[in-house]
Amino acid sequence: MKKGKIIILSGPSGVGKGSVNKELSKNKNLKLVQSVSMTTRKPRPEEINGVDYYFVSKESFLEAIKNDELIEYAEFIGNFYGTPRNLVYDQISKGKNVVLEIEMIGATQVLKKESKNLISIFLMPPSLKVLRERLMGRATEDEEVIKQRLDKALVEVPLKYKYQYVIEIDSIKNCVEKIKDVLAKENVLEKISYEQSLFFSLEKIVLEIVNKSYLFFIENWRKNISRTKNKDVKESFDFKKCLINILTNFIYEDVLAHESINLLTDINFIESKIERCMLEISFFDIDLKKFI
Ligand code: 5GP
Repeated sequence: MKKGKIIILSGPSGVGKGSVNKELSKNKNLKLVQSVSMTTRKPRPEEINGVDYYFVSKESFLEAIKNDELIEYAEFIGNFYGTPRNLVYDQISKGKNVVLEIEMIGATQVLKKESKNLISIFLMPPSLKVLRERLMGRATEDEEVIKQRLDKALVEVPLKYKYQYVIEIDSIKNCVEKIKDVLAKENVLEKISYEQSLFFSLEKIVLEIVNKSYLFFIENWRKNISRTKNKDVKESFDFKKCLINILTNFIYEDVLAHESINLLTDINFIESKIERCMLEISFFDIDLKKFI
């Protein structure tokens, strides 16, 4: 049986990770399993032990670390948070994809241990102003904790590029659609195939545009690279495939991070993005070995 994947969802406190994750778990087509973390934080009024978290004492948490029961853990503003190992590995071996909604220090530990079996996503607020307003509007914490959470967010946001995908939460609905597409692109879903992803259709549109307008560029690129006697690049190197790959990924990443997902099927938008990329990408600095 194909092993499932660990899906890491990180993002600054208050960004809306929890709401996005709740929507994801409601979508039965995705068949995602939620990991339930252990924490020493006190429960908020609406939180249920064993559902939102396992709320434990500091002693129990330290005991779990000692017994190697956690895949990762971190201290976040005076409290410990960690992912129990059992459920995650049990579900993955059954082919299920397990979502870990965790902060960056813990995520980095998982990225090191499980780099192949992992999809990592960082959720971004539309702006820092919006993030601040969301945190202030959350009446569950006192002012000092809100300030510490905001400070932590300001440290986390610039480190977002450690993650494979950076997705803006413009609205919960759009963000869920974007994550769904990433999972289809990564081909980890039972009911939605790679060919049904918008990434796949984007790739086809990029191919058409390259065929229509940029074959002259590919020839020029090939000639110039062969002149540099780059030994890594053989005669048979597929420059067209490489260009399509670069452009598709560039546009996909840009849309996930800043635009509405519907634009991935908008030919005019894609054409104008490609025009910009062709002028801005430094093609001679690209490490072509990565594409061999
Ligand atoms: P909150 O107190 O708002 O529920 O969570 C604070 C932060 O801890 C959030 O960024 C949340 O994603 C993160 N978090 C929750 N569970 C875990 C966990 O098991 N491990 C780590 N490293 N972070 C977690």
